[in-house]
Amino acid sequence: MTENQLQRSRLVVRSSFFLLFLLAPVLNIFRFDLTTTNFVIFNQVLSFGMTTEWILASDYWDTGFRILAYFILPLFITVISGIYIFYKWGRLYCGWLCPHFSVVEYVNDLMDRRTGSVTLWENSKFSKERQAKRNKIIDWLVIVGVSVTIAFLWALGLLSYLLPPIPLYTDLIHFEVDLYPTIFLVAATTVFTIDFVLARHLFCKYGCAFGLMQSLFWMMNSKAMLVKFERDRAKACQSCDKDCEEACPMRLPVRSFKRAKFTCTQCAQCISACQEVQKDNPAGSLLGWSEGEKTRHSSLIPVKTIDPKKGHNDS
Ligand code: SF4
Ligand code: SF4
Repeated sequence: MTENQLQRSRLVVRSSFFLLFLLAPVLNIFRFDLTTTNFVIFNQVLSFGMTTEWILASDYWDTGFRILAYFILPLFITVISGIYIFYKWGRLYCGWLCPHFSVVEYVNDLMDRRTGSVTLWENSKFSKERQAKRNKIIDWLVIVGVSVTIAFLWALGLLSYLLPPIPLYTDLIHFEVDLYPTIFLVAATTVFTIDFVLARHLFCKYGCAFGLMQSLFWMMNSKAMLVKFERDRAKACQSCDKDCEEACPMRLPVRSFKRAKFTCTQCAQCISACQEVQKDNPAGSLLGWSEGEKTRHSSLIPVKTIDPKKGHNDS
């Protein structure tokens, strides 16, 4: 797949999932209604078909079998399938679906265009003259304004998973939202704004339990898919300004070993960047998805091995 095709496919997939995340409660696809304490799934109240009449007419075996077939078994299959995906392909969910990672990439891109850097602590790649010409106040007003807007959409989206969405949106349009939902909206918007402006990828790296769990299963598999660097062609990097590392939303040392890329989200931005840099090179990109990395660096806790010829550790 070419650079554009790969990133275009990812854009379609993650944008669709982002829309699903916002619209699932409105379309009654999935939500928990706090006012009735019921889960709603595909327009049905989740009851496993166990109405009062059904329970009265059934014995323990019927009830146990219904719970096993409708709840425990699907949950078990979902968990096992998830673990298999994490073990084999790593943090695919993060890079291709997660709504938070979509925001990470969007705000990274915005900050890069406005300030020449995607974090506060990295130096701007803009020249001194270009920096002097820019109006920093406007740049930061745009960055914070966009972040607040997305944060508010997120807060509203999350609240609609808990309260009936249509009345909630109607109240919002008429400025009649109750006190507690208003407190939730203000608090959540503030927290998300701080996250989006200051700590987006740090949250993905160190704060998200689901992301870390995916990384742990991935690290257990020495044959898991990973972005591999062709070290024997490293000379080709001499004329390049580390575009792959510049493109990495997680700010990872892309060309390093798997352990250093523990939080890689398989977003392939690095591969796309290298494909662009090396587009005139017949040998192509130096980065590509590959199966495993058979060195001690590929495990989370490095295992010391003894080289019988040298008689010392292979580090
Ligand atoms: S190393 Fe490459 S695939 Fe992994 S997060 Fe960074 S850009 Fe994405
Ligand atoms: S983008 Fe490709 S050529 Fe440039 S530093 Fe990265 S691996 Fe090397």
